Amino acid sequence: MDKNWRDWKWQWKNSLKSEADFSRYFDLTDSERQAFQQTAHLFKFQTTPYYASLADGKNPEDPIRKMIVPTIKETNQGRQSQWDPLGEGNHSPVSRIIHRYPDRVLFLITDMCGVYCRYCTRKHFTGNDQAFPKSKEYSEAIHYIKSNRAIREVILSGGDPLSLSDDRLLKVMEDISAISHVELVRIGTRMPVVNPLRITEELVNMLRQFHPVYIMVHFNHPKELTAEAGEALTRLANSGFPVMNQMVLLNGINNHEAIVQALSRRLLKLRVQPYYMFQVDPSRGTDHLRTSVMDSRKIQRELWGRVSGLMMPNLSLDIPGGGGKVGFAPDYILFESDEKIKFRGWDGIEEEYVNPRPDHIKKPDITEYLEEWQTIKSAKYGSGTKSQAIHHLRPEASLF
Ligand code: SF4
Repeated sequence: MDKNWRDWKWQWKNSLKSEADFSRYFDLTDSERQAFQQTAHLFKFQTTPYYASLADGKNPEDPIRKMIVPTIKETNQGRQSQWDPLGEGNHSPVSRIIHRYPDRVLFLITDMCGVYCRYCTRKHFTGNDQAFPKSKEYSEAIHYIKSNRAIREVILSGGDPLSLSDDRLLKVMEDISAISHVELVRIGTRMPVVNPLRITEELVNMLRQFHPVYIMVHFNHPKELTAEAGEALTRLANSGFPVMNQMVLLNGINNHEAIVQALSRRLLKLRVQPYYMFQVDPSRGTDHLRTSVMDSRKIQRELWGRVSGLMMPNLSLDIPGGGGKVGFAPDYILFESDEKIKFRGWDGIEEEYVNPRPDHIKKPDITEYLEEWQTIKSAKYGSGTKSQAIHHLRPEASLF
């Protein structure tokens, strides 16, 4: 092992980016070799040596390998296939900002990632060598947030914000925290998974000045929870960052209740809240990695009640085209009327919940909270603002 293995910058500099690089770690199959030659224009290949070392290089079915090594299946269009499955281009009022919900925005602060996940939702933007916004784009994005008082949360995303240097991040955090109506920042990152050495003392000491800062991590499989990842997560939790996990259910990789259970239980022990369990978006080239909503709901039903609520990630999908998030919960209702609802619970017990009389319901005094609520309720946001803001949208690739 190289003497610099534990240096995150060494991991970054020595990333695997080509067929030859990947061949050093993996016995590539014909399908994988063809993919390196035929899909390079569709989506970048890249992983840190650390993350590659978690995979079994001899087993094409290894779950880590399937997340980072391309296969020729990426050229299949499949049953549904879109460059921008979340319709982000339609909700981008200025460059790098996605404003889909009234009280929060996504700020795409870089398009670079530590690895390029084969199932990525944002293939239209990620990995296009745009890196940090140009200075005009950056000022316009900050100005947009400043001018919209309904925006209470800024979600730094991309790309992976923690691929930026500490100095760059410091500047971004200073600029956002100077906006008085922004109450918290979320940072969406896969670095604790793919390059956990990035979570240095210096980084957490810098970011903790701006609390509340939520860290949204993205572990998909218990194999990713190594000693190094555990150290990174502990460092974050010890420094007061709420850490939440967003996993994606991936076909043949983690779409089984036993795996979701193992991942959630280990995360919770590390003080990470299993938050979302997403359906893969129908992003181009991901059909072979998608699982059905029925399969995902079955996983949810198997876990519901058997594991604690704290361990239960919310099953959710984004309506393709930008329709927003939809959550699922098992349906235990047998019968419903104005008077009562009858349930059969997760382990078969049947009982009723009887409503109080309708004239018994009264609303509390909301004077103190009304203005704040109206700001959110009447907020103008992205809808209908189709713009050029997410530029460098990949052109329709000839393969499809
Ligand atoms: S880290 Fe996130 S943005 Fe980057 S390739 Fe993976 S899924 Fe896409």
